[in-house]
Amino acid sequence: MKNKKRSKVRVFIQVAFFLLVALIAVNHTLVEQGKGIAFLSSASLHAICPFGGVVTIYQYLTTGTFVKKIHESSFILMIIMFTTAVLFGPVFCGWICPFGSFQEWLGKIGKKIFKNKYNAFIPYKIDKYLRYLRYGVLVWVLYVTAISGKIAFQDVDPYYALFNFWSSEVAIGGIVILLVIIGLSLIVERPWCKYACPYGAVLGITNLFRIFKIRRKTSTCVSCKNCDNACPMNIKVSNQQVVRNHQCISCMKCTSEGACPIDNTVNMSVKGGE
Ligand code: SF4
Ligand code: SF4
Repeated sequence: MKNKKRSKVRVFIQVAFFLLVALIAVNHTLVEQGKGIAFLSSASLHAICPFGGVVTIYQYLTTGTFVKKIHESSFILMIIMFTTAVLFGPVFCGWICPFGSFQEWLGKIGKKIFKNKYNAFIPYKIDKYLRYLRYGVLVWVLYVTAISGKIAFQDVDPYYALFNFWSSEVAIGGIVILLVIIGLSLIVERPWCKYACPYGAVLGITNLFRIFKIRRKTSTCVSCKNCDNACPMNIKVSNQQVVRNHQCISCMKCTSEGACPIDNTVNMSVKGGE
């Protein structure tokens, strides 16, 4: 019952943020047509995106201004999300990001089609190097934004394309990448998060030093590997005492409140026993 409660809370939060972002995106288009919903502000997706705060850091430090279309709110959200990640890891990725949730929901269809093969198509030898690709994407986005002073990433951003596919602001590159990610999500869990998301790359680094870590107690573990099978990021929790993997998204699926059948064996905590 306890497990179900935790997973229901997470699904509720994911659905709530997905709907909120969709509503803001639709309303932004309506405002431009002079038909905005009265009780909503005219905020665009850029105003509520914490990654906007990251891409504007260089310009803010060098000129004291924000990159075009980026708002102060992005900067504040960036600080809140980074502080949260230093404490608990990338909870934004595992609980809030609507594009992460979208991939997760598509994955449920993929699991039904491919059963045990799902999320195991890419050979480990290739997969382990592909996981660093997102840092390349991050460096590219920061560089291009710094030299252009514009949100260069928008033209290839599948998240922006998903919530604006009806608008003329979306570039064809964004739509193509969105379609590729939709297809890949049917065979790999969270392909964008694993291999390409620049914001996931930033937050993922906090897994190396976060305060509350995912810990496994070896004295009570029965080596059933349920934790490994539950992890959307394919992290082998069952052979670690402390998860310091840069890909952990703090989804808590591996914990004793999730997949682990033994009480108090996998937890998120500051300190853990053997
Ligand atoms: S299942 Fe555990 S190790 Fe895997 S991403 Fe979620 S919290 Fe991290
Ligand atoms: S699910 Fe729990 S008991 Fe099973 S291998 Fe993982 S930590 Fe050990």
